[in-house]
Amino acid sequence: MTLKTLALKMQDRGIKRKSNTPLSRNTWAGILHNVFYIGIIHLKRSQEYFPGLHKPLVSKALFDQVQSVMSSRMCKVKSKDPLTETFIFRKLLKCAFCHRTLSGERQKHHIYYRCHTRSCPQKTIREERVRAFVRVALKKFELDPCGDEGIQEWLADLRLSSKERIVQNRSELSHRLEEIRTALQRLTDSLIDDAIGNVLFMNRKNDLVTDYVETQRRLENLETDEQQDLINYESAINTAQNAVLTFSYGTYNRKRELLQSLFERITVSHKRVLLTIRERFQILLPHKREH
Ligand SMILES: [Zn+2]
Repeated sequence: MTLKTLALKMQDRGIKRKSNTPLSRNTWAGILHNVFYIGIIHLKRSQEYFPGLHKPLVSKALFDQVQSVMSSRMCKVKSKDPLTETFIFRKLLKCAFCHRTLSGERQKHHIYYRCHTRSCPQKTIREERVRAFVRVALKKFELDPCGDEGIQEWLADLRLSSKERIVQNRSELSHRLEEIRTALQRLTDSLIDDAIGNVLFMNRKNDLVTDYVETQRRLENLETDEQQDLINYESAINTAQNAVLTFSYGTYNRKRELLQSLFERITVSHKRVLLTIRERFQILLPHKREH
């Protein structure tokens, strides 16, 4: 039982706010820690404890048991490294307006993600809000409990079509390399023609060269990446069906892996979050499987 479920249970039994809502978790924590109920008076200002004249409501033994349960839970929470547990969306959120990565920052008790592009209209968004959108998206995978034939068949197809995909990707990437080479040539020409300044030239050139190197790397690793992808699909499909649970109880790294394997992009547009499910996982969505 958690403080939240306790609050709900007690609400059913009539211990609630005037507004008919459950007492807050803080209130319940305060009640459970309050020595008044075992017949002790605690003066906060002087930090003095003394026996009260009132009759205890619960025994000291029960009270102590409750304290030890509560503190063991507190320890669990505290023993998590706060730095690794927070910023769960570090480097995973893209700005819908400028397409840059949002960066996380802590403000008081909350974590916010912000776009650092100057003049970008993007507003900051709270981590809790992003989590809420993620949970809704993950729930879609849960609706259909299907570790079933359809999925297995689909996986088999995926393995079979693996060679075709490599061929197709190879031609796409080679084509991309060709395009970058042409762009570099054109860029050099425009520098010679004095059409652009040196700084602009260098910036554009750097971008193109980075793109070139990355494209070439992908081309070289096509086969291993494809194999790794297949392995990743299989393991991720298993977890997709338990996505909500993993996202609630998994370790920090496990949660991030889950997000990265299921979603191609997580785009933030002001207070809204758009989660683009990777094509290979769309088969798991109920409405896709009806066809
Ligand atoms: Zn932006």
